[in-house]
Amino acid sequence: MKKLILATGNPGKVREMKQILAGLYDEVISMKEAGVAVDVVEDADSFLGNAAKKALAISQLVECDVVADDSGLCVDGLGGRPGVYSARYSAEGTDEANNAKLVQEVSQLSEDQRGAHYECAIVLARKGKVAFSCECRCDGQIILQARGSEGFGYDPYFLLPEYGKTFGEIEPAVKNKISHRAKALAELRQFAEQEK
Ligand code: IMP
Repeated sequence: MKKLILATGNPGKVREMKQILAGLYDEVISMKEAGVAVDVVEDADSFLGNAAKKALAISQLVECDVVADDSGLCVDGLGGRPGVYSARYSAEGTDEANNAKLVQEVSQLSEDQRGAHYECAIVLARKGKVAFSCECRCDGQIILQARGSEGFGYDPYFLLPEYGKTFGEIEPAVKNKISHRAKALAELRQFAEQEK
């Protein structure tokens, strides 16, 4: 029985990761479902550094594989912010307050500075060591009016120009093929399939 623990407490990420990794392990469960509670301080200066920190901390406590992701939104005209601080961009750290701060800051930028990308680092840890890692991105642009209620976090403000839709409007099944997290998890899938 091959079990995988997802080192995240974010229900939006757990949902997406379970859908994308379906069939790869016999059981894919969240930290909460596994009864593992570890408070990891995400103080690395890169997505990869934070993902490794989370995956390794939990891997030291369990026998099975552990996958952690660290992701965020990088806006061109804001010098890549909020970046690794995406979850705690505003003082409150809620999606609502983060999005309000994003709109406020991006409204000061010209149209051509509103390019942005989501970035996602994935680390698979096994027996306290990194077994696989990768980093992928998804390009788009920030808009000032929310559109759609799918996804989570900054999604209603993240427009994919080639679809003419935000991640808030795109069906979850489509997001789970083209997102930063989908691409990184596809690389993880490839790695895990090679191991079979
Ligand atoms: P993490 O839990 O430190 O990786 O926080 C990542 C933060 O980046 C989340 O709380 C969201 O604000 C944002 N984020 C990452 N991926 C996505 C996504 O796919 N959609 C919307 N927001 C995202």
